[in-house]
Amino acid sequence: MLFERLFWSAYMARHLLGQSTYPFRSLESIERDRDRRVRAMVRYAYATVPYYRRVMDERGLRAADIRTADDLANLPIVDRRDLQREPDSFLSTRVSPEQRLGVRSGGSSGMPITVFHDTAALFQNAAHGERERSIYARLVGKTVGYREAVIASPMSTAREVHRFSHSRVLSPNRVRIERQYLSLLDPVESNVELLNAFEPDVIHSYGSYLGVLFSFVLANQIPFHQPKVITFSSDGISESVRRLIQDQLGIPVLGTYQAVEAFKIGFECLEHRGYHVNVDLYPLRVADRDQVMAAGGTGELVVSNLVNRATVLLNYRLEDIAALVEEPCPCGRSLPLLSPIQGRADDWIALPSGRVVHPQLARSILSGTPHVWQYQILQLTATRLQVTVVADSHCDQVQTRGLISARFAEALGSEVQVEVMFVSSIPRTAGGKHRIVRRLESENGQ
Ligand SMILES: [Zn+2]
Repeated sequence: MLFERLFWSAYMARHLLGQSTYPFRSLESIERDRDRRVRAMVRYAYATVPYYRRVMDERGLRAADIRTADDLANLPIVDRRDLQREPDSFLSTRVSPEQRLGVRSGGSSGMPITVFHDTAALFQNAAHGERERSIYARLVGKTVGYREAVIASPMSTAREVHRFSHSRVLSPNRVRIERQYLSLLDPVESNVELLNAFEPDVIHSYGSYLGVLFSFVLANQIPFHQPKVITFSSDGISESVRRLIQDQLGIPVLGTYQAVEAFKIGFECLEHRGYHVNVDLYPLRVADRDQVMAAGGTGELVVSNLVNRATVLLNYRLEDIAALVEEPCPCGRSLPLLSPIQGRADDWIALPSGRVVHPQLARSILSGTPHVWQYQILQLTATRLQVTVVADSHCDQVQTRGLISARFAEALGSEVQVEVMFVSSIPRTAGGKHRIVRRLESENGQ
């Protein structure tokens, strides 16, 4: 165990070297790193991942035929359905179950998948985070021991990842960053109290939650500890909330772009031009339903993960819509820019007490329920939720219905009744904003 801890501590230290300045390297050198990683990952995928072995053989492709990120387009596009249908065929035979962590997510369309990440990839991800952390650290004024509050679903993946990594290193990240985890489930006022007691330098949450938090603080004129920077992920932040926080309170707001399938896709710099994409790790292209689109066009993003060696995903369709930006960023970073992501447009759940609950909570309940392939949640009245589920053929409907109801009761209290309906399909939302959690009364203009 000690040897393992020493090993991963040294591994992490080695991968941290040079990360904060990496985005400023020349684009040519970044692209060389990217293509080197493409070749290594394709060789690995062909040798150890059943899906890639099969499709490359079918297409008469050898690993040596794919030499650059552009060549990845010769592989078929993989989507969530493929991963749901045959998850094991995307797993490398070289990573044992003890060496990987499974992370589950419903994505923007409410179709849960499990993506396994190998231990080395998790430590590399933590190290790559230094590219954006160095921006925050400069705003905070210290690189070691700053305080960060994370407000997320109690079932969020970030906590699992931290737990998994902390059990494997000698000096956990905690020494570098002191973290406070707050729950979306708790009322905003009690989270404000906890934040005031902890006095974080950085607050991280979902974009939509920050909107509610700051409107609450400003509307009620509550004394509030001001962090030095606010970061968000998962869903967008409205322009008015961003203005409010940046212009009125003078706190920079910076987004990160991450997915369960690719942890560190991009980050926003202080120029606010979109996300700098870590193309050496996660090359991205924009595609329409079947083909690659011209530069500058808006479409669905297709990513290749060149870091993770457990569930291997090359040419994978994310459900996010954006455009690659041609102009360089005045900040001097060479990592190319991606336009802001057109995020989710879920409604909050309004409880009879008047409290509103962030939709991510409902999403994580359904994403964490076994046998659920797709879901949608509709709040009919203050006390009635209708959950529509597409389940796999092994699903025991009585048991699954009971499990979903029990989890909602635990999260929202017993005053809310949950009706679970099993259906054979839920139509896919056509492009643009996905709404998986909807409130009927908000649609009737109330
Ligand atoms: Zn920039």
